[in-house]
Amino acid sequence: MLLSAFRETAVSIPLRPHRHSDNDGELRTYIGYRVQHNHARGPFKGGLRFHPSVNLGEIRALAQLMTWKTALVDIPFGGAKGGIAVDTTQLSAHALEILTKRFVQKMAPVLGMHQDIPAPDIGTNPQVMAWMLEEYSKSHGYTPGIVTGKPLELGGSAGRLEATGHGVVAYLAGKAAQDIHLPVKDASVVIQGFGNVGFHTAQHLVTMGAKITALSDARGGVRCETGIDIAQAQRHVADSGWLEGLPGTESLSNAELLELPCDILIPAAVEGTINCDNSEAIQARLVVEAANIPVTHLADTTLRERGITVVPDLLANVGGVLVSYYEWVQNLQEFPWEYDTVIQRLERRLGRVYTQVRDLAQQRGVDLRTAAYEVAIGRVNRAIDLRGF
Ligand code: NAD
Repeated sequence: MLLSAFRETAVSIPLRPHRHSDNDGELRTYIGYRVQHNHARGPFKGGLRFHPSVNLGEIRALAQLMTWKTALVDIPFGGAKGGIAVDTTQLSAHALEILTKRFVQKMAPVLGMHQDIPAPDIGTNPQVMAWMLEEYSKSHGYTPGIVTGKPLELGGSAGRLEATGHGVVAYLAGKAAQDIHLPVKDASVVIQGFGNVGFHTAQHLVTMGAKITALSDARGGVRCETGIDIAQAQRHVADSGWLEGLPGTESLSNAELLELPCDILIPAAVEGTINCDNSEAIQARLVVEAANIPVTHLADTTLRERGITVVPDLLANVGGVLVSYYEWVQNLQEFPWEYDTVIQRLERRLGRVYTQVRDLAQQRGVDLRTAAYEVAIGRVNRAIDLRGF
């Protein structure tokens, strides 16, 4: 029962993405997915990804991971994931808005604030969530709780945008580093992916005294042994679209970046970037999975055998869905919380979850991933038994 999804929906969305008048522009058909894995503990919850490589297999795996994440952090949600196979860099903002709204029109029967609540992921952001909210509200009345990760002006939560990177990866990286006696101050950190999660992670680790020695995006990486200025990198990306050519850095490929000597390696981009081809060459002491499923199963075994500690995705990046839950609660209450309240609750809960997983791992003599799965699967099974699913 837990191996297969509760429901899988695929929709086709015809669009003329480069249309300038009524008749021109090539007609393209985009395929969108929503996989709802399990809802024993509450409504389905999970991100929406816009990326050319999106496919049903990937969305299935990510939906299942969401079931374990929401259970691990003990919030009343199940797990889902969705996406559209699309290269958003080739679309105008207007075409992206139409594509998003048509996706919602077709998926509306399986969505709902007590049924399934999407959120941002790769290639989507608060603006995309605002378009989703608008389209859903047209036929259901104003429903801010239909999505999380919205702009603040439409019922978004303070702290949501930076929740995954800022509060969590950095916070959990700090705790895990402490456990292996690695001071974060002056630690060298390499981050793959400089989007929402990668940027906020980098920014927060710098405030903790770490030095970001290499960063990358889909085009490639940049490196500076004395430490990259994150604000300058962000400005450079805002101006040029990519990290490439960042002054004061030398360029390298994503493959080279992952094999650099460093204290902490943070994959914050896509799946499977640490795999059989490079797991023997990883030179970090700690790997923190900011991305979902960035380390393949066999590579995980290799890293463990080589004595490299891995903080698994379902623990490391769970702050995003935790603050999404806080956002949903604020929408239900129609009462926004202060930024400090959100961050304090986030840190308190994550601290408890990390300690529970670490203590279980030590008791059982297993790694953090196995212990995290044991807690999460136990909670889902108990809900299934109680409800007589
Ligand atoms: P994003 O779209 O904001 O950024 C993605 C970054 O990765 C960009 O810099 C992009 O150029 C880069 N990238 C894309 N393909 C790449 C490749 N093949 N090689 C190297 N870099 C590549 O996405 P995000 O929201 O930062 O998400 C990053 C990861 O974190 C994903 O795995 C996502 O599922 C996971 N995650 C995100 C959240 C969230 O709150 N946004 C929460 C939990 C987990």
